[in-house]
Amino acid sequence: MRTTLAAVAIVIASLTLPHAQAPASDVVFIHAGALLDRPGQAPRGPSTIVVRGGRIDSVRDGHVQPAAGARLIDLKREFVLPGLVDAHVHIFNDDDKMRARLELINRDIEDNLLIGVDNARRTLEAGFTTVRDLGSDVHSVTALRDAIISGLIAGPTIVAAGQGISGTGGHADSSNNTNRDIAELRRSRAANLCNGADDCRRAVREQISQGADVIKFTATGGVNSNIAGGLEQQLFDDEMKAIVDTAHLFGRRVAAHAHGEKGIAAALRAGVDSIEHGTYTSSATNTLFKQTQAWLVPTMVAPHAALAQARAGARSALTLAKAEEAAAAHGENMARAIREGVKIAFGTDSGVGDHGKNAKEFALLVKAGLAPAAAIKAATVDAATLLDRMNRIGSIEPGKDADIVAVTGSPLNDVTVLERVRFVMRQGVVHMLDGGRQAFPAK
Ligand SMILES: [Zn+2]
Repeated sequence: MRTTLAAVAIVIASLTLPHAQAPASDVVFIHAGALLDRPGQAPRGPSTIVVRGGRIDSVRDGHVQPAAGARLIDLKREFVLPGLVDAHVHIFNDDDKMRARLELINRDIEDNLLIGVDNARRTLEAGFTTVRDLGSDVHSVTALRDAIISGLIAGPTIVAAGQGISGTGGHADSSNNTNRDIAELRRSRAANLCNGADDCRRAVREQISQGADVIKFTATGGVNSNIAGGLEQQLFDDEMKAIVDTAHLFGRRVAAHAHGEKGIAAALRAGVDSIEHGTYTSSATNTLFKQTQAWLVPTMVAPHAALAQARAGARSALTLAKAEEAAAAHGENMARAIREGVKIAFGTDSGVGDHGKNAKEFALLVKAGLAPAAAIKAATVDAATLLDRMNRIGSIEPGKDADIVAVTGSPLNDVTVLERVRFVMRQGVVHMLDGGRQAFPAK
């Protein structure tokens, strides 16, 4: 009996050890050539980051000699910055659209889950240590999120929406224009569809009850849904208000997919925290953005990827006209939104485009008028603020997660260096070193 109790005490002590008092082997000194520890402020010169138990312990000027037993990581020739944050991905969506379309009928949810495991790792190795998934099977995405949290598999921290809320026939109705057998089956499982304000409250509560961290809804039509009929408003004002109020009641932020101007304005008036895509913003909607302090997540890589896929026949024929229209309007309207001072948070809609190529968004943001420093801030401090995670991520400061990446050359001069991340650490675990994949779990 005594020994059993002693054994239990030891187990409890070892479980509580990492955060209370990390062993020396759990301490890492990183020597950085240059360090952008707080995006939005000027970078520091040669610096040392001390990581302890997966968290940032301290940041010091110069290259400090590591403590006895601590690991030293030499990034003296690299530019070091916080792990990147992508506020809009679909981690289970196959980026090989032609193959996905041909194989769809043979695939089960388990096939998609494994595709998601691979996408998660590719995303992490591209330097994105946190993503917000805005539309996936809620059980798959919470399982993936929790497996990454527990250290079972390698991937980014996931903030999960589960399934996007939509009206019947709306952008997130997966039964649109399917045959009657598939339509019947999908409709019977569609907890995310709602019609009328009360029903929309139910739909939000169902996603939350299954583990959603954030709520996504589709305020307007979308390019890739299998239905004709444009990109304008698809939920009534009172339905949007019911969705936002219910999510906020449960302490969840709300992201609205919105292309058309009327739909964007209605979602902003309903009180959303972010507009996704925002294809047809105008000076009027930009004023509303500033009044409500909502974020715009531009997903600039998505319209061009979607158009190329639609033209190649990898999407249903009903998407082509919508893809042409969205790609033509998006760039110019985004440039005006940036000029007029709308707050921008970084997001790519990866899953439409390729997973692991998320950083291609940076060059498009700069082309649309964001300074490189502002584009980097959008993918760190600003995205972390939108995700309500500023206490854990977004900058390299004592107490935060040790989510750290490094590139060769300064991204403040050329943002495209972020497309070639050389080093990735998430919560103190090194996943990429000198541009090469590290064993996980670490041996
Ligand atoms: Zn999306």
